[in-house]
Amino acid sequence: MKVSPSTYAAIQEKGVYGRYLNLDMVRPVLEQWAPRFPLQAMGTSVLGEPIYQLLLGRGAKRVLMWSQMHGNESTTTKAVLDLLGFLGAGGDVAAGILEHCTLCILPMLNPDGARAYTRVNANGVDLNRDAQLLSQPESRALHDVYKRFRPHFCFNLHDQRTIFNVGKSPKPATLSFLAPACDEARTVSRSRADSMKLIAAINKSLQELIPGQVGRYDDSFNLNCVGDTFQALQTPTLLFEAGHYPGDYPREQTRMLVFQALATALDTLGGEKFAAYRVEQYLAIPENGKNFLDIIVTNAHQIHPQWEKEIRVGIQFTEELRGNNIYFMPKLQEVGLLRHKFAHQAYDGSIAAERKQVQEQRELYHLLN
Ligand SMILES: [Zn+2]
Repeated sequence: MKVSPSTYAAIQEKGVYGRYLNLDMVRPVLEQWAPRFPLQAMGTSVLGEPIYQLLLGRGAKRVLMWSQMHGNESTTTKAVLDLLGFLGAGGDVAAGILEHCTLCILPMLNPDGARAYTRVNANGVDLNRDAQLLSQPESRALHDVYKRFRPHFCFNLHDQRTIFNVGKSPKPATLSFLAPACDEARTVSRSRADSMKLIAAINKSLQELIPGQVGRYDDSFNLNCVGDTFQALQTPTLLFEAGHYPGDYPREQTRMLVFQALATALDTLGGEKFAAYRVEQYLAIPENGKNFLDIIVTNAHQIHPQWEKEIRVGIQFTEELRGNNIYFMPKLQEVGLLRHKFAHQAYDGSIAAERKQVQEQRELYHLLN
């Protein structure tokens, strides 16, 4: 299943863009859909912001999804808002999903972290390590919704860093998935197999859009993670990780791809298509490597007299919130031969490089000194 570019352009939520998304930006979109899809606050964050839930559809298959459990991971939230647009607009696929599925969506589980652009909540706790303790109000809200809604499937929606490549290839892992383990032995239980099959369906569809750019996370077991906990409770759970698409630091292309993944997953669950997929298709997705840098500077000896000729410089961006914008601040990551590293952008540090790079070289020189 693939949503055409023209359909996507028509249903895309235009009110949100880029990397910074707080509840003030998301709430108007939710309220706009509220007459059609019931909206309710299911809990309150540490700093008193509501944790919203939307209910959609009337089908037998119950799907629970939550986004922005890590506050600085907004790409899947944008995709979820696009999904509301798609399901609200009608059309055969949307009608089929709403007929066969009931969706419970928590579009921003960690509103305090979202506002501050932090991974953790306002108490400094990583909510994805709090699944057993349930020490935080946000964790308890998700757990309460899980117990009450009794989902057949869970989608745990995240962003990943730009460092991941697919297998050993030089392609970025634009989307990654995981069917989390349900025990130390990483048993392929029935519910875990179901999450693997659904990821296989998503991957098949994504390969048509981004061939070779889908990766799989390793499945080491950690019961403190929400996905592992729900999987251990025998609810098939899928981890979605939105990653880097070339040139797309605002993650708008990735957002569209996450939307496609969500629509495919729901269409697969709603129809009779699920049975066609196999665990082996999931296992055939390459595991992620960690071999990308944001920038590699070649001929670095030309900008730093102490470096030898072969030396290359790896730069990684850190993200800084200023106002309502995210700035990507270059930080020196590593200096060396960088033989097994790939770069999203390459700069030639050579003095003979094109004139237009002179300014960039000056900026790099300031950065490195
Ligand atoms: Zn995350």
